[in-house]
Amino acid sequence: MNHEDGTRYVRVIVDRAIHRELDYSVPENLADRVGVGSRVRVPFRDKSALATVVAVPEQSEVKGIRSIEAIVGDAPILSEQLLELARWIGTYYCCPIEAVMRSVLPQVIRRAEVGWKKQLFVQPASNVDQGEMEKLRRRAPRQAELLEAIAKLEKPVRAAELLRQTSLDNQTLRALVKRGLAELREEAVVRDPHGDEQFIATSNLVLNEEQTHALNEIEQALQAPENARPILLHGVTGSGKTEIYLQAICAALDRGRTAIVLVPEISLTPQTVERFKGRFAEAQDAVAVLHSHLSEGERHDEWHKIHSGRARIVIGARSAVFAPLKNLGLIVVDEEHETTYKQEEAPRYHARDLAVVRAKIEKCVVVLGSATPSLESYHNATIGKYRLITLTQRVDQKQMPLMRVVDLRQEQRREKKATIVSERLSQAIADRLEKREQTILFLNRRGFSTSLLCSNCGEARNCPNCSVALTFHRHPAVAGRLSCHLCGHSAAVPNKCPACGQDALIYHGFGTEKVESTVAQIFPKAVVRRMDADSMTRKEAYRETLRNFRTGKIDILVGTQMIAKGLHFPNVTLVGIINADLALHLPDFRAGERTFQLLTQVAGRAGRGETAGEVFVQTYTPFSPSIQFARHHDFAGYFQQELEFRERCDFPPFKHAILMTVRSAHEGRAKLSAETLKRRLSEALPKEFTLGDATPAPLEKLQGQFRFHILIRGEAIMRLSRLVRETLDKLPFPEDVTVAVDVDPYQLL
Ligand code: ADP
Ligand code: ZN
Repeated sequence: MNHEDGTRYVRVIVDRAIHRELDYSVPENLADRVGVGSRVRVPFRDKSALATVVAVPEQSEVKGIRSIEAIVGDAPILSEQLLELARWIGTYYCCPIEAVMRSVLPQVIRRAEVGWKKQLFVQPASNVDQGEMEKLRRRAPRQAELLEAIAKLEKPVRAAELLRQTSLDNQTLRALVKRGLAELREEAVVRDPHGDEQFIATSNLVLNEEQTHALNEIEQALQAPENARPILLHGVTGSGKTEIYLQAICAALDRGRTAIVLVPEISLTPQTVERFKGRFAEAQDAVAVLHSHLSEGERHDEWHKIHSGRARIVIGARSAVFAPLKNLGLIVVDEEHETTYKQEEAPRYHARDLAVVRAKIEKCVVVLGSATPSLESYHNATIGKYRLITLTQRVDQKQMPLMRVVDLRQEQRREKKATIVSERLSQAIADRLEKREQTILFLNRRGFSTSLLCSNCGEARNCPNCSVALTFHRHPAVAGRLSCHLCGHSAAVPNKCPACGQDALIYHGFGTEKVESTVAQIFPKAVVRRMDADSMTRKEAYRETLRNFRTGKIDILVGTQMIAKGLHFPNVTLVGIINADLALHLPDFRAGERTFQLLTQVAGRAGRGETAGEVFVQTYTPFSPSIQFARHHDFAGYFQQELEFRERCDFPPFKHAILMTVRSAHEGRAKLSAETLKRRLSEALPKEFTLGDATPAPLEKLQGQFRFHILIRGEAIMRLSRLVRETLDKLPFPEDVTVAVDVDPYQLL
């Protein structure tokens, strides 16, 4: 924008943490190329720094304004809409805008240091002079051979590829280039993480009545997205939600719009990617995939594929909510209840909630799907903020699995020790082995034994850095050592109790390794495999195990939540939940909700094929509501009672919460800072907000840091966030004290 004297200005957010926007002037030669969303290099203090342009003001009040040094990259990389979303995140999640920018723009794009991968291509040579060719044949037969191959080319081909095909070498090619008979050109090649895979094209299935109704509703919303409410698609596992997403995306593309599909990282399996790539296989670049295992180069290429408009569908984990698609028509959030949508470092955003906010900004449709919607979303649907669509039937009327509850208290009384596989579960497994059907056993705890206790003095081997017991692993990678699942500390197993010196150490509790070995002992002929973070350290191991399970080479698969979600194996007719109580005893108001969801999801793995499935839930608390409601597939009943509990206790969705964690390696300083913070907050916050005391966190020590919590609850969350931010900005903390603010927290330890 031209000012009277012709000077132009930009307002930027510098990548460094300064919590402020700064103005710079733009040199005349750069003026045409800079706009909102451009990346620039600016002088900052006595160095230079990267920054993002967020406004182009008419003038600036800054005296002695400095000028930007350079433009980084070509086109603006941040749309106005994404910028608006970033600002919203900063305010809502009480987070400095620079930190928000780090999430919105991947590092490889912000820094612009990684570029396209360039490769040399040989250009086709038209009309090769026959005289030249004859001369070459006599003097340099290999060059002649290569030239003939080049003459036959129809399009440019990678130099390396051509040399491989002709079994000729680089020197020969160089010689031809030198003679002016061949031409090499550098071109960008795309690093496609799925480039070497073949996707079998699929077409739309004929939808059943419930699916048709759901798709119609979404299509109607696509016609008038500016008035559409977010849609909550509540459909039991296997009711064909993914098929609806696929057809809804088609409908959005038909209208010239683009789409984002968010899936939890954990269910971003080859199976899921295949379904989307397969349906949109005719346009090779149509689907971009974003997840945390991409290399820098792959991430660069996928991002530009999206930004340039070549990719029109993005499927990815939570950060894909920032995918730079233009003309967005639809955002799908699959398994919307999943807690992995919550980012556990600043900005601590929830991708499902951001999807709803982004949809509002972009005026597009948002569909949240789940078999077990979160209390928050379901509540929004019952009060009319969201539109609820329900799928009550599994596709082809397949039966919901039969849920059987095994009372571990009785088992323990009979067996006189903790049960791993109960009599009834064991019989059911034997039965499947006989029928050559498959079993999944689920336990949400890794390792062999979960603690090493002294039977004399009662001391457990704890992590020196964290307030948790060390887990014993037999797995070769950690070979018979104790290790901490929080910080990675590992220690040898002592012979005697280091506390009292007695030879009285006993292993206590069990994890997936122990389940695996127990099952292998009971069924020596069965092929048992384990799938958890310890056994799946190689990326290939994961695919390999899944492939072997699918092809029936594995009879029993033991695993953690890694196997709970999204997988589809028709021959699995039995699921055993080894201990359903693990989540229930956490000091967390969502414990019941998580247990209900987990049981329902894991159970959903059973009976996806022709035979009805059966689920055994082993528990010490057989009458807890989450277990009973899950047993009867009664979402509405569970929801009703859980909601009453939340309302009684002022928990979400009725009140918002902000959890502040104050931590330091020095216990006294952490405590003192937390208490000071609490006092300042009590001065700053009006009565409508409930402010808790500064208390030691349930996990008192983590990675060598002592932790204190302050929990605030209230309704007006934007106002509360602002007041918290202002209080923090005014408070100087000692250098070794860190304060983390978590708005709508999921992690209460
Ligand atoms: P969900 O996402 O609700 O768990 P899916 O979309 O994965 O359900 O569907 C479960 C299975 O049923 C998949 O194998 C899918 O291909 C198949 N399916 C879905 N819809 C139909 C349909 N209308 N007709 C036939 N098969 C279908
Ligand atoms: Zn530790």
